[in-house]
Amino acid sequence: MNGFARNWPASYIVVATLAAACPSGVVEAQAIGPEVVRTVGRDEVPESAFATRNALKVPGRPIGFNQSLPYSSMERALLGPFRPKLDIQKLPIRFTLSPNITLTAAKWEAFSYVTRSREKILTWSAPVRLTIADFKGQRVIDGRGRFVFSEEQTWGQVDTSEGNYVVVPTVKGFQAALALETAGFPPDHPAKLEDRRKAKLRGTETRILEEGSFDCATTENPRFAGVRLTLGIVFTRAALEAHSKQVFARPCAMIHKIVGDINDGLALSEVAVRFRLVGSGLIKGYSEPQLDGTRAIAHVLPEIRDTGSDVGKEIDSWRRKRGANIVVVLVSADDGCGISDDRVERFEDKERAIAVADSKCAVFIHSAAHEIGHIMALRHDVRADPSTTPFPYGHGYVFRGSGHKFLTIMGSRTSCVDCTRANRWSNPAVKENTENRVTGDPKTAHETRVLEEVAPITAKFFQ
Ligand SMILES: [Zn+2]
Repeated sequence: MNGFARNWPASYIVVATLAAACPSGVVEAQAIGPEVVRTVGRDEVPESAFATRNALKVPGRPIGFNQSLPYSSMERALLGPFRPKLDIQKLPIRFTLSPNITLTAAKWEAFSYVTRSREKILTWSAPVRLTIADFKGQRVIDGRGRFVFSEEQTWGQVDTSEGNYVVVPTVKGFQAALALETAGFPPDHPAKLEDRRKAKLRGTETRILEEGSFDCATTENPRFAGVRLTLGIVFTRAALEAHSKQVFARPCAMIHKIVGDINDGLALSEVAVRFRLVGSGLIKGYSEPQLDGTRAIAHVLPEIRDTGSDVGKEIDSWRRKRGANIVVVLVSADDGCGISDDRVERFEDKERAIAVADSKCAVFIHSAAHEIGHIMALRHDVRADPSTTPFPYGHGYVFRGSGHKFLTIMGSRTSCVDCTRANRWSNPAVKENTENRVTGDPKTAHETRVLEEVAPITAKFFQ
């Protein structure tokens, strides 16, 4: 590992401290100071790396650059910590996963969300310290990190009380750290379902590929004792290409980031529900309906729910075979981040348990989780949606602290335009980290209670 580190000088480092809940309930954390091995100079960063907004199509403001790691070294780093002979008694566990990213864990339990597929993708969630040092100076970002380590790239996200940051690959082996600009994403939902006859539906032969690199199914976490729900994710070619051809758009890396985020959010919000990915596939030969040159997410839902259509029939038979309680269809859309059946009172109707989400929104601002929330009877925050059925306490929450504000998963972006969306479900029993204030209201905003009440019903869908 030392030779590895010497060969690949770092420019910015992630030092992670882990607060893992022990069986006794004691939370253990260890502070590790920032460590800068090498600073990247301005002249080393290719000019095209700065055009990140266009190159990556991720709405965000670049705040730093760094060199990433080639395949062979990453594979060595990836496999190393998972060899069974690793001495796990020696704490903290320290990973040097790229020349610039070091993760330190005080507890082995931090890796309960690790999944590995045929592509050897590892996802990891923990409190992290992201230290970026380049020609712009040094910045330290503390927050909740969720990283994906694939054979070729490391990328991920750090959510903080001030905003959300992503680290993504850009050109010529460089990575960019971006401050996400939520306003740059489409609205949560399309304005309305326009006349379907206007929609130009394309794609005659539709087949879902289950094999090969498109199937990223994971195994059960045997240690989780709550309600387990099954999730199937299918995606269009455009959903992948929306992330350009960068490595982080590889299907399993994209999907594991989404599923990892969902489960991490449930854990952080203390919900006794988890999702397991039971299958994924490419919807071949299907492209998003276009309406006046706009890829219209509003028009995808009727088509995929129609078992008389080619795509609807394929998805229906696939989900039955896989036993997916809920299916999320990832597309690339211009008119909205997601859509699902808005008749939330009918949460017991299994035919509702399918949603569509834009892939960028799903990867970076929790839109897949948001649509799953609607399927499971949840509504937006009370300002955006005051309806009280079927659960008066089934609303999202807008947190307004003295120093920061955020939306929970079901909070509507129209209720707080400059809020970030936190990976949290409203829960009046759980406090946020910075100001130690609650993240819900027992009468109106208790999403986690609804999730736990509805999950046993959802768990029977298509089983
Ligand atoms: Zn919504």
